[in-house]
Amino acid sequence: MTLICIFLGVPGSGKGTQANRISKQFGMAQLSTGDLFREALKNDPNGKLAKIVSAGDLVPDEMVLELVKRTLKSKGDYSKGIIFDGFPRTIKQADALKEIVREMGAKIQVILLELGLEKAIRRISGRRICSQCAMVYHLPNHLPKEEGICDHCGADLISRADDTEEKIKKRHHVYLESTLPLVGYYKNHLVRVDASQVPDDVYRNVEKCMKAMANDQT
Ligand SMILES: [Zn+2]
Repeated sequence: MTLICIFLGVPGSGKGTQANRISKQFGMAQLSTGDLFREALKNDPNGKLAKIVSAGDLVPDEMVLELVKRTLKSKGDYSKGIIFDGFPRTIKQADALKEIVREMGAKIQVILLELGLEKAIRRISGRRICSQCAMVYHLPNHLPKEEGICDHCGADLISRADDTEEKIKKRHHVYLESTLPLVGYYKNHLVRVDASQVPDDVYRNVEKCMKAMANDQT
């Protein structure tokens, strides 16, 4: 049975980082709606989606669902499972996912990365990304060897345009309003992981959950 794993947590809780490591270790496909949006924005930098994202608003359910469904149809190997990062974000999206899961004959597991708002804001405002290879750094916890320069490729590090404090606060507000209800929605499929530790420690706990889920299936 295909496992569909959902990472929930406030922006800054490390969903993307954790999902990425898990997908590599377990050979699961990672579907990040953030990445899907950024890709769509490249093709249409002045469209409707660009306006929504730059305002920090939630992308409407219809647009998200269309992107997710299109990706599931076009991109290949889901035999070892799928990890969603940034999806679902609303009850309506969760209902649509339930339908997708039913059609696939899959099973849902949810990992909630728990982190207080204040810590999350501090984490995001320190985030720096390589302008070339997309490697992620954090000030002050994960510094590059040379200030402002990527260790891997030597390109400049930048802040993401949507990582200003005002926009971070807005994203948190949107999270509390639209996404937090999902914790109740998934209460029977949910494990909680403390995300306030350093990423390696968080990962060890997430990994434990994933192994337990895998055993659960056989
Ligand atoms: Zn780089």
